[in-house]
Amino acid sequence: MIVNDLNAIEILDRITDGIFSLNRDWNFTHVNKEASRLLFRNREDLLGKNVWIEFPEAVELAFFEMYNKAMKDQAPVAFDAYFLPLHTWFDVKAYPSESGLTVLFKDITEKKQEALKSEQHYKSLFEQHPDAVYSFDCEGNYLSVNKGFEKLVGYKHKEILNSTYERLVDEKYLTITNDHFKKAANGVTQNYDTVVIHKEGHKVPINVTNIPIVVDGKIVGVYGIAKDITLQKHSEEVLVRSEKLSVVGQLSASIAHEIRNPLTSLKGFMQLLKSSLVEVPSYYDIMTDEISRIESITSELLMHAKPQAHSFKEEDVLEITDQVVVLLTSEALMSNVEIITNYDSIPPINCISNQIKQVLINVIKNAIEAMPKGGQLQIAVKKMSEEEICIRIADQGCGIPQEFLEEIGMPFYTTKEKGTGLGMMTTYKIVETHGGKINISSEENKGTTVEVYLPVNYQGNDSIVA
Ligand code: ADP
Ligand code: MG
Repeated sequence: MIVNDLNAIEILDRITDGIFSLNRDWNFTHVNKEASRLLFRNREDLLGKNVWIEFPEAVELAFFEMYNKAMKDQAPVAFDAYFLPLHTWFDVKAYPSESGLTVLFKDITEKKQEALKSEQHYKSLFEQHPDAVYSFDCEGNYLSVNKGFEKLVGYKHKEILNSTYERLVDEKYLTITNDHFKKAANGVTQNYDTVVIHKEGHKVPINVTNIPIVVDGKIVGVYGIAKDITLQKHSEEVLVRSEKLSVVGQLSASIAHEIRNPLTSLKGFMQLLKSSLVEVPSYYDIMTDEISRIESITSELLMHAKPQAHSFKEEDVLEITDQVVVLLTSEALMSNVEIITNYDSIPPINCISNQIKQVLINVIKNAIEAMPKGGQLQIAVKKMSEEEICIRIADQGCGIPQEFLEEIGMPFYTTKEKGTGLGMMTTYKIVETHGGKINISSEENKGTTVEVYLPVNYQGNDSIVA
């Protein structure tokens, strides 16, 4: 530094950065105008004084460490630091020499606050986003998760942070999820569907976007955004189901008709044959049994396919249920099944009584058939609200394996030797035309509960149903 040169001091004063110089004993040798302004100290009060005595708070801060480092290494240093006594952020550059240290600094508080603000903007985008937003390290351990994530999986962030996503993913989807995660961790953004297990045990289908986190050109982790797609999946399934149903409807109309007539004559000739034989062969019964089976399939198909004119009327669903119970009691007794009913008082339901009867027959028959060794069959009719009732049929039968639950109601899906696989399809169709819905829950070897929800006042289309 130039010493005692009036011109030099003038030049330094014109510089808009604060500048001061210290000698090897850390005493001030120069202080320009801006430095005196920024530090709120007169130049004369500082000159010749020790910087660490004048600004004792700086000893604990980056200033002390960085100035010492610069002097020790004889190499310039640059840093940002907050100086609490003045509530100011400084951008500091210190240039060492044999004789001491020259420091250039400026006030960057405003800029820092701006940056902090935009950081807060991003933070609220992360925290307030309704979708699940989260980040991982490159190994797939959660680093941060937002409220949307907690809601999606039911875990609090404390239960999740620093553990891997693998424990949340449904086993069946683990390989594919791992593949996508690895690609994202290698820098390629991924979008895919997978399934996670909620803390309460149920599965949640989600759509995930994984984006690599790049800092200074290096991938340091992966961001995730996940959306619950349960509803979307459900409507896709309904669509597939109703498409299949209409195809079956058309096909069954023609096939059932074609089969019915030859079947009737076959049956007739079989009876004729029996009466003309002295000794009836043992396979005769098998043949008649098989013909009856074909008959029952065709009649169920026909019922499904034939457009039937029915009308919606206000009906007493408790009475309908009782009629069905009477109808099926003898069948239940044969399998040692005890039927227990439990009815709320409910308003009249706008429905087609024959069809509701058909639904109950189909569901209750299945329940009885699921308990060949007997058990209890609970039939409850519940009032859910002023607008909705629920008929719940719960058995203690064989149950339905989780992976086959989705198949129930698909045409011809049956696990029974003499089944048709058409009962539940018809049931779904009827409930749908009544504006209702069906919920099946089941546990293997424990039992199955089928819930049929019906709106009280559905304005159904009278013309063609089933
Ligand atoms: P089907 O009774 O002719 O087999 P359904 O459409 O009525 O045809 O039922 C389809 C299949 O759904 C049955 O074969 C059975 O595997 C399963 N199922 C339906 N209800 C029950 C139940 N209550 N318990 C166990 N399995 C059931
Ligand atoms: Mg059935």
